[in-house]
Amino acid sequence: MEHIYLDYAAATPVDSQVFSAMEPYFTANFYNPSAGYLAGRSVRTAIDDARHEVAATLGVRPGEIVFTAGATEANNLAIQGIMAQNPGGKVLVSAIEHDSVLEVAKEYSHGRVPVNAKGEIILEQLEDLLTDDVVLVSIMYANNEIGAVQDISKISALIADVRAKRTETGSSMPLYFHTDAAQAPNYLPLHPKRLGVDLMSLNGGKIYGPKQSGALFIASGTGVKPLLRGGGQEFGLRSGTENVPAIIGFSAALQKAVDVRSVEVKRLADLKALFVDGLTQLKGVEITPTANSLHNLVHITIPGKDNERLMMELDERGIQCAVGSACSASNEEPSHVLQAIGMTEEQAQSSLRFSMGRSTQKEDVTATLKALKEVLRG
Ligand code: PLP
Repeated sequence: MEHIYLDYAAATPVDSQVFSAMEPYFTANFYNPSAGYLAGRSVRTAIDDARHEVAATLGVRPGEIVFTAGATEANNLAIQGIMAQNPGGKVLVSAIEHDSVLEVAKEYSHGRVPVNAKGEIILEQLEDLLTDDVVLVSIMYANNEIGAVQDISKISALIADVRAKRTETGSSMPLYFHTDAAQAPNYLPLHPKRLGVDLMSLNGGKIYGPKQSGALFIASGTGVKPLLRGGGQEFGLRSGTENVPAIIGFSAALQKAVDVRSVEVKRLADLKALFVDGLTQLKGVEITPTANSLHNLVHITIPGKDNERLMMELDERGIQCAVGSACSASNEEPSHVLQAIGMTEEQAQSSLRFSMGRSTQKEDVTATLKALKEVLRG
């Protein structure tokens, strides 16, 4: 049976060009990049080139890019790294962050910024929460469950105002802004400087690159304490022999994601419109509204239906979609994201996420609507 894969927010296949770029670094160019002989130095050059390419894509300096093993590590490094340098400070996170932000924030004095029913940060509440002891604000760019996209520039402008007031009053308390952009590169502009963020987490596994690859952008002058100590790789911020194929793959994947973005966004937006239109004609289906939404993602609830069962029935018909985010190993708890936008436990347990990607075609959308219709009738 042919499958229709609609879970691109969970994982993307590695692009064939990306795979080809990585391949030699598993075999012929396996050398340790810290080795002094020519072959080792050529692998070091490949890492440097990848860092320059990522930096150019983001409009930042190469020294501001630290390669990590995915977004979980980048988020941990951002939060733990800043908080360790500023003991006694407070971190603010949004109520809909990924667990790799929420769980880390719990280790420190922290506050949660609420969102409205459309998953949008409530700016007035953020303003009230920005007390003098806050050193870090971490708000994700695009949410992995409902697809809500935050107005990062607006949030960073608010943070810049608070920073300026601190300077005026002679306060030496720093204030940094981190965004988890793991779900963003395929769909949204990324320049950290234009967005006004000091730290940005990226993830290769969501952009047709390898899993456990990614990066943290750290604006120069931002003091971050490393999580891993040892050989001092990655400017001392991520010790350990570099995962060269992952670094090469991440860089190639990011480049391609940005290159094809405008065409893909338009294509996916059209498919999403078609899908949403079909869904509105299905009895009992409610589309979760979001303020700004990822172009590839549709979240629905079907009150009275069990989502696990629906997902399995769709799977039997060849349609692969998600209950919850699949970003955590166990999904037993009701989703904190859905709770934060005001859904009841029952609503959360009747919800499904469909996320489209590069292989999704019009026929896939039509077939999914047909399968959903059958499943709901049954
Ligand atoms: N942040 C977001 C928004 C995500 O969707 C994910 C997905 O898994 C992560 C962080 C964690 O990424 P990884 O599991 O690849 O470390």
